Amino acid sequence: MIPFLSLKDVTALYEAEINEAVARVVKSGWYLQGPENEEFEKNYSQFIGAKHTIGCANGLDALIWIFRAYIEMGVMKPGDEVIVPANTYIATILAITENGLVPVLVEPNIDTLQIDDSLIEEAITPRTRAITIVHLYGRLAWTEKIAYLCKKYNLKLIEDNAQAHGCQTPDGRITGSLGDAAGHSFYPGKNLGALGDGGAVTTNDSELARVVRTLANYGSSKKYVFEYTGRNSRLDEIQAAVLNVKLHHLVDANNARKAIAGRYIKGIKNPLITMPVTLPEEQNVFHLFPVLCERRDELQDYLLENGVQTIIHYPIPPHKQACYKEWNDVSLPITEAIHARELSLPIGPAISIEDADRVVEFINNFK
Ligand SMILES: *Cc1c(COP(=O)(O)O)cnc(C)c1O
Repeated sequence: MIPFLSLKDVTALYEAEINEAVARVVKSGWYLQGPENEEFEKNYSQFIGAKHTIGCANGLDALIWIFRAYIEMGVMKPGDEVIVPANTYIATILAITENGLVPVLVEPNIDTLQIDDSLIEEAITPRTRAITIVHLYGRLAWTEKIAYLCKKYNLKLIEDNAQAHGCQTPDGRITGSLGDAAGHSFYPGKNLGALGDGGAVTTNDSELARVVRTLANYGSSKKYVFEYTGRNSRLDEIQAAVLNVKLHHLVDANNARKAIAGRYIKGIKNPLITMPVTLPEEQNVFHLFPVLCERRDELQDYLLENGVQTIIHYPIPPHKQACYKEWNDVSLPITEAIHARELSLPIGPAISIEDADRVVEFINNFK
């Protein structure tokens, strides 16, 4: 059996260091808002190239806090519009609607699977306040054109960097430092994953950083004094300690993913399968390896019969979900085509090249 992603095998790669880090926290008696968070925030800021990192409970909260902070700062108000790719994971959109803002769904490009920057300008209205980009599947979504549009229309550029830790622009900037603020997830299966939930906001804006930190700690920056109606959304010390270990190995883990992706890109030759167009290697950290296939469900069953586990990212697009009934009749053909055809192949830092080559062989034999 070739698993889609064995978290047990991933953790085993760093087990001794992780055990040592966890034991250190257990012994210290300090479990929240302590030295491990401080160390992680310093290390992560340095890695991303951002002035501030604020640890929080998960990636969804990280995104929620960014929009909420802009509302508290008077930069946005409920009813304002935020541009977002229509084919993202639901969390990006939930963070917008949770704050009473209005998501404006923009179709992706079928070749890159990222937001189509040629469709953004026509979606901008006088109520637009931000463009949210999602580096989906670990691939750079940022373009010069998006940066230009943000400048031209005075919009905030917000990154959802849940899937792309360590991804770079052509000039070597790291995702999470490309706009005004970025939300990061450390869900266990992400490229930088904790052993439980975790998230962070990165930004160069000191006031935004202060408001996010306050919101994620009950709206309080001074004990028992409450400035906002916040929530308990902190990153615990054990997870911060684990993240410090794994951050140290992130570049190697991403390189292992790139090696697997390289085998797929070079080896898969089947007219029934469409591969996403490739990018220079620094611009994709392969959180996932998506392929498109008209007979996707048959391909998935066939691979499973041959011992290869795959996952669909994602089977139902956000606008067709029951939680967003108001959009259920909207037609977004590119997004719908992707959701109907996408299949993610096994990828991760603990998969062997031999297993990747077996996957290639099975796919090439699919008729
Ligand atoms: C995982 C993910 C999130 C949310 O992260 P959680 O830590 O699970 O809350 C947000 N956006 C995208 C694109 C994701 O893949």
